[in-house]
Amino acid sequence: MNAEIIAVGSELLLGQIVNTNARFLSVQLAEMGINVYYHTVVGDNPDRLRSAIQIAEGRADLIIFTGGLGPTKDDLTKETISTHLGKKLVTDENAMKSIELYFERTERIMTENNRKQALILEDSFVLPNEHGMAPGMCLTLNERTYMLLPGPPKEMEPMFLKFGHSALLGKMDRQDQIVSRVLRFFGIGEAMLETEIEDLIDKQSNPTIAPLASDGEVTLRLTAKHSIFETAIELINQTEAEILARAGQYFYGYDQTSLMLELTKAIIDKGWTIASAESLTGGMFQQEFTTIPGAGSLLKGGIVCYTNEVKQELLNVNKHTIEELGVVSAQCAAEMAENVAKLLNADIGVSFTGVAGPDELEGQPVGTVFIGISLKGQPTITEKLHLGGSREANRIRSVKYACHFLINALKKTQNA
Ligand code: ATP
Repeated sequence: MNAEIIAVGSELLLGQIVNTNARFLSVQLAEMGINVYYHTVVGDNPDRLRSAIQIAEGRADLIIFTGGLGPTKDDLTKETISTHLGKKLVTDENAMKSIELYFERTERIMTENNRKQALILEDSFVLPNEHGMAPGMCLTLNERTYMLLPGPPKEMEPMFLKFGHSALLGKMDRQDQIVSRVLRFFGIGEAMLETEIEDLIDKQSNPTIAPLASDGEVTLRLTAKHSIFETAIELINQTEAEILARAGQYFYGYDQTSLMLELTKAIIDKGWTIASAESLTGGMFQQEFTTIPGAGSLLKGGIVCYTNEVKQELLNVNKHTIEELGVVSAQCAAEMAENVAKLLNADIGVSFTGVAGPDELEGQPVGTVFIGISLKGQPTITEKLHLGGSREANRIRSVKYACHFLINALKKTQNA
């Protein structure tokens, strides 16, 4: 099956939003073994949408639309497809009931144009919207499938995963099971990781190995096909084992996880608490930490100690350390980590001090960062980084490195 994704919305063409729907769907379709050959973006204009559909029909047997299913005049995806395919729009009673219920529940007045959201293309299969009002739909005509999904990702993604995915599987003439797994690495560049596993990449066929680098992390997506599901899993397990034998020290997790999530899991396993002392990162570590649900019981709090005065007065960093070694030093990072843990009565203290840029500090070049890690009952660890990014990138990268070092340090205490 060859697919084209058509994202409808003038705001996409104006650069006001990014077409993340196409990215999401492409990943999903690739995992299902459906080739995506084209992404199209078209504004809220019926003529141009119609010509985009005609072009797509010449080159794809699955066309997925996102956006333009709303109640307003510029939402015209359904109407344009209806005219183009000669399929009437009919009211879907279930969708209408759930729209009415929504208005009753929220005590809001339903306007006439909201009824438009319950209209579907006749003969289409409805994809319920459990996170909004406009239902999606799927219609096959002349051996071509048209799938219409809403624009907002928080509606579109769950709809596709719960209903769209199986609707497409049902249409695929396929004997193979497709299984996919993402391996996540940190602390190794894409080029270096590829070099480590070059021969595996060169001979890859089943599973395929697809590397991707972003935000200082590298992922490898392994995708295997086999008529027997368990065999497809076994093929992935074997390749994963070969990869981890070479680069296992940089591996931190599977699929949708993150370094911060893995760190919170490691802290939960220990039954410990954490506190942070942040100069360079200005609270970014705590901010990131608190995005993880349930993190509240693990994070005692932290001190943003941007000035020397706060480092000394509030965090009790030794005056001589600051004057003689400087705030951008391993000793300062160590004292910050130890003292914040003591002050906030936490089992783990982590600290950040360094030069985010754009100017040098204390003669230290931009990108010099010290991270301190104090774990209950262990000697304090400090790590020095030489980062090469922008101010913001250096701060973000520092938080990720801290997670990486903390995960490894906690693992060692587990093994000890
Ligand atoms: P609504 O009922 O909210 O109007 P809709 O299906 O009509 O939904 P649009 O009006 O086209 O969708 O878009 C609504 C919002 O969804 C946009 O403002 C944007 O925030 C988001 N959105 C739309 N298309 C995309 C896309 N391709 N990628 C990411 N976000 C998108």
